[in-house]
Amino acid sequence: MSQNLVFSGGTAILPDRLLENAVVVCRNGQITDVGSQLDPPSDCNIVDVSGRYLMPGLIDMHVHGGAGADFMDGTVEAVSIACQAHVRHGTTTLFPTTTTGSPDQLLNMIRACQQASDAVGARIPGVHLYGPFFAENKVGCHSLAGRRSPGALEFDRYFETGFVRIATCAAELPGAQDFYQSASAHSCLITCGHSDATWSEMHAAFDLGMRHVDHFWCAMSSVSSLRQRCGVPMQASMAEFVLMQEEMSTEVIADGWHLSPELLEFAFRMKGSGRLCLVTDSNRAMDMVAGEYRFGNCQDGSWFYSDGNVGWALDRSSLASSVVGLDHMVRHMFHHTSATLPEVVAMASLTPAQRTGIDREVGSIEAGKHADLVIVDKELRVEAVYIQGKRNS
Ligand SMILES: [Zn+2]
Ligand SMILES: [Zn+2]
Repeated sequence: MSQNLVFSGGTAILPDRLLENAVVVCRNGQITDVGSQLDPPSDCNIVDVSGRYLMPGLIDMHVHGGAGADFMDGTVEAVSIACQAHVRHGTTTLFPTTTTGSPDQLLNMIRACQQASDAVGARIPGVHLYGPFFAENKVGCHSLAGRRSPGALEFDRYFETGFVRIATCAAELPGAQDFYQSASAHSCLITCGHSDATWSEMHAAFDLGMRHVDHFWCAMSSVSSLRQRCGVPMQASMAEFVLMQEEMSTEVIADGWHLSPELLEFAFRMKGSGRLCLVTDSNRAMDMVAGEYRFGNCQDGSWFYSDGNVGWALDRSSLASSVVGLDHMVRHMFHHTSATLPEVVAMASLTPAQRTGIDREVGSIEAGKHADLVIVDKELRVEAVYIQGKRNS
């Protein structure tokens, strides 16, 4: 049972402004009042936020694991370990993300997340079906053996769990159109990633409901990759499609290793905070010592190396996803772009909530939403995390 709480004296980070001397009242796990002139109700325990910020719980729509566990390990224990690690970084809602792998591994992962979803601290509204439907030349750090083209016999089993909320498929694969139709019938946010798609393939996908592209600039087509695939004249790629089509959203891995400050600034200025999400894309090496780890399933996932700051392919020729939490991404984006604090926090809370259709419940400090709140100091370091009004860490 959560207590009735009133968070007072700090600066609340609202989607459109900073609210000084904020008073945020929470009853039965819900936010019931937000203001600055409110008298704290006498039946609530006071949480003093003086000299610090109160921000909404962060929401990660692309995350593979942490603290030694990958969601693809497919056990409730692994799901729980990874979720608890992310809660310590201020994430209160996350979408566990599949890698490439066998159909049984994917189903085990989805079922483990479904079973664990009430008991793990962080909220799991559903999974992100990400691998295995990637383009062969864009698998990145995922195991190539676990990649394939989509077939209804396989993907319907995933959608029929009712627990897939985000669905990725490379637009140029045979069967992609069937995949998008099925994902749309199951009300998923449809995304294209690990793809070498042309403009016209993106357009066909858009007509079937595709509205998002995974980790912008990573494992996606460019004018020069399409020059190699299709010859001349040069063609517009996924990048131009996302930048030109207002309805399209995307995400950045703002860990400081994947993208330079000017690319982060460019993505923010082109798409704005309403169409750009911060994600971790972090793997099991988050909060672990430097060393070699498996990406994806613990039995047969591909090996990568974490130097403690970022993941690398074993030959160091390319990056292999991130190893830091969403709080790090928020700090990095704030310090290295012109985005304001409300804009940066929205990119890691309200915008992913809106894109995945859960913004009525979570995503901002607003009356009527869950009391998912994070106290951070002036350097944006996490001090305390509350989920539905209950203190987690
Ligand atoms: Zn990826
Ligand atoms: Zn990923």
